[in-house]
Amino acid sequence: MKIIDIQEIDNLISLLREMNYLVVGPTIQNGAIIYSQITTSKDLPIGYTDDQSPGRYRLIKDKKESYFNYVVGPQSWKKFLYPAIQKLYTAYFKNNKLEIEREENPTTKYAFIGVRSCEINAIEIQDRIFFGGEYQNSRYKGLRKNCFIVAVNCSKANSNCFCTSMNTGPEVKSGFDLVLTEVINNSHHFFLIDSGSEKGEEVLSKLNTREPDKESLELGNKVIEETKKQITKQLETEDLKDILLRSLESPVYDEVSKRCLACGNCTMVCPTCFCMTVEDYTDFFKTKAERIQKWDSCFTLEYSYIHGGSVRVTTGSRYRQWLTHKLASWHEQFGTSGCVGCGRCITWCPVGIDITEEATKVRRIAEFQTTSMEEI
Ligand code: SF4
Ligand code: SF4
Repeated sequence: MKIIDIQEIDNLISLLREMNYLVVGPTIQNGAIIYSQITTSKDLPIGYTDDQSPGRYRLIKDKKESYFNYVVGPQSWKKFLYPAIQKLYTAYFKNNKLEIEREENPTTKYAFIGVRSCEINAIEIQDRIFFGGEYQNSRYKGLRKNCFIVAVNCSKANSNCFCTSMNTGPEVKSGFDLVLTEVINNSHHFFLIDSGSEKGEEVLSKLNTREPDKESLELGNKVIEETKKQITKQLETEDLKDILLRSLESPVYDEVSKRCLACGNCTMVCPTCFCMTVEDYTDFFKTKAERIQKWDSCFTLEYSYIHGGSVRVTTGSRYRQWLTHKLASWHEQFGTSGCVGCGRCITWCPVGIDITEEATKVRRIAEFQTTSMEEI
């Protein structure tokens, strides 16, 4: 563990750029924290924090000139590793012969700055999806293997965070190249920094660091402990998978369908959701066609279209598909939960539907062996 002064963040960005990384970090765009290319610390949301609750997000001025005192915003790092729109190939005729031109896999080396513990867990979940089994997504795998992760321990949680229930935060424990803890109070503003890989150690050795004293280390620990105390939302995960799979006819899903707009926001903002569709486009003269892969959502009617009709015609059945996949059948598919407790789906649901509350209602109904919503 070392200490760097706040000015050293610029050196870190420059070093990564010299190593041919495309440096991406938090910026302010359209009133939200958006991950985007950064070239200097001035691009960071210095002096801003956020206020989140179900269906609500506001960026507000912080009392301090903090660099990372916000919680996760609407976008996750999947927008770089698994972009919303990707061209797969172009087909065209040449000399009366059909030619297929596959898109080359990108070779971009991303350095992500400001990755939170829940987000590292989400990336590792997507690793299992895209290259943990027999079928491998070479595009994702190539980008991921080239990635450099500068994690940040959270100095703040909001009322939608429940990472402690999912065992995914707020302290960064693994999966990083470098990890920062921002210490800021009346008399101090510095970062504790540690490496978690050889690549991270190499970068750290080139920064201007100093040894931390006991007080600095204690201040760093306090940041994490204070953040943990702010997390009040909980999801009881004990036996949850079995309860959800036993409760597919729970009245909760009919009730939630009266509020859910089936807009799919929850799936778009979720850092682990990976559903996609493939669409073909032809040009005006029908001389070439392009096959495009796009994010899709289990909340659309078309997503469950199978040979003549959709399987999930009601909004309740689509909500059930999403919730039971995240918290139950994901375990069977990938060996973990599909939820890291980041709270994005709660913040960005326009009607504030809360996955922890709905799962808890299903649990209560199952435990009380009732079919009545009123009794729980
Ligand atoms: S389901 Fe919601 S809380 Fe869980 S990882 Fe996805 S967006 Fe975050
Ligand atoms: S739960 Fe909320 S965000 Fe998700 S589809 Fe329904 S209304 Fe949209």
